Amino acid sequence: MQCLKGKSVYKGIVKGPVVVLKQDEYQVRRKKIEDTEAEILRLEQAVDNAKEQLQKLYDKAVVEVGEASAAIFEVHQMMMEDEDYMDAIHNMIRTEAVNAEYAVRVTGDNFSHMFASMDDDYMKARAADVEDISNRMIRNLSGRGDLDLSAGEPAIIVAEDLTPSETVQMDKDKILAFVTVHGSTNSHTAILARMMNIPALIGVPLSIEDVESGMTAIVDGFEGSVIFDPDAQTCIKAEIKIAEEGEKLKLLQELKGKDNITLDGRQIKLYANIGSVSDIGYVLENDAGGIGLFRSEFLYLGKNDFPTEEEQFVAYRQAAQMMAGKKVIIRTLDIGADKQVDYFNLGKEDNPALGYRAIRICLKQPNIFKTQLRALFRASVYGNISVMYPMITSVEEIERIFEIVDEVKQELEAQEIQYKIPEQGIMIETPAAVMISDELAEKVDFFSIGTNDLTQYTLAIDRQNEKLDDFYNPHHKAVLKMIEMVVKNAHKHGKWAGICGELGADLSLTEKFVRMGVDELSVAPSMILKLRKIIREMRVEP
Ligand code: PEP
Ligand code: MG
Repeated sequence: MQCLKGKSVYKGIVKGPVVVLKQDEYQVRRKKIEDTEAEILRLEQAVDNAKEQLQKLYDKAVVEVGEASAAIFEVHQMMMEDEDYMDAIHNMIRTEAVNAEYAVRVTGDNFSHMFASMDDDYMKARAADVEDISNRMIRNLSGRGDLDLSAGEPAIIVAEDLTPSETVQMDKDKILAFVTVHGSTNSHTAILARMMNIPALIGVPLSIEDVESGMTAIVDGFEGSVIFDPDAQTCIKAEIKIAEEGEKLKLLQELKGKDNITLDGRQIKLYANIGSVSDIGYVLENDAGGIGLFRSEFLYLGKNDFPTEEEQFVAYRQAAQMMAGKKVIIRTLDIGADKQVDYFNLGKEDNPALGYRAIRICLKQPNIFKTQLRALFRASVYGNISVMYPMITSVEEIERIFEIVDEVKQELEAQEIQYKIPEQGIMIETPAAVMISDELAEKVDFFSIGTNDLTQYTLAIDRQNEKLDDFYNPHHKAVLKMIEMVVKNAHKHGKWAGICGELGADLSLTEKFVRMGVDELSVAPSMILKLRKIIREMRVEP
């Protein structure tokens, strides 16, 4: 028995036989070519075939996992038209008089290394895409055609890495789980695994040579573990967990497509919290009515420089398109406090949680704010986006935000760029905002209560300080009374109020929140159906 840990991309547990996908064993040899122009023609034929195969894969993926995830195959088609990449291959064939397979392999490796060494996680993940298209061309050149990974009984696929096209070519019904040595959570393979609801572990430190096809394994996405050759006792434990999870899921699945409505007819919106576009699979899978909190600062974290307007626009547009008309509430950047980014040069602060963060940065450095607003307003044309501003404490802040919004609007107008001003709300996460929520409600379209920070600021407890865990009590009467007050003040002005902090997912408070008149709860995607169950079984009037 061997137990290994990895990063879980999708939570679920399975037990079954292993199929090991060994690296493409085809060895490319360098050969001298007499007629280089004929070799270029051979290459072009292989490229045409590859494009056709990719089109077929795209069509298959659109049906199985949706347009947004299928888009990777369009990207692959475009990569095959990339001038730098194709010119490098042509040049090599012509100047070195080598065979096309060799020129593709060397060029593919060079480009892939170049992407892999970039700091940007998104660009890093493109290394696998270049390898994927290069392998496809080499297979076509050598007359081996497309891969067929769909044979055999359902299995746990173990591989060094999986390319997106390998992933989508597999028959979903034949896969129990993915386990890979490499791969990033940002990769399209990971995205596809999530969309396909398949437990997946990446970054598992295993030696592929030691794993045999046919051996039994247990993949536990909750624990992030894979156990090869489990003993009898481990198997029994796993089978019990599989049955329990299956039962829970089955019961909850029955709630999909149903309304979030109490027995006496009160309806409430259940939305999901996400950190990046790649989480949207969970949102859809769990039947959330929309996205209630897209923490946009995650686009800024782990980078060496500010994300460009275009980068942000693409992410927001993708979210809007994937949610197909359902609401997507994007919070403007909440950098600062625990979310530190070097290139913001925030400097050291004695009390960062009470410091230069979130909207304060945006108002002091409007250029950063304007770039994000431009991307948001442009993306709003493509779906049902709302924007919300974090850490508000005063009416003046809102007035200043709206001045900046107006400037952005005029700039876009002058440049004749398509845009739409979305619904605009604020987070209520400071006691100051609670106390003036009556006035604030007149100014904005909605409130979303951030109970994580509201608890921190109300109880004067640093939410990052483990020593204070026993004192951090989000059930404190003061916090609950504040929530009630905010909801009342929102309704007084005909606005809606939701909760997007962790307390929204606290099942022991669901009935209380519904009775308070909370209009929306935005929670981790996996909590949606659990909340729906409680709501559908309760009455507002006890
Ligand atoms: C909150 O404060 O409750 C909230 C939702 O925002 P964050 O946890 O990102 O600060
Ligand atoms: Mg907060």
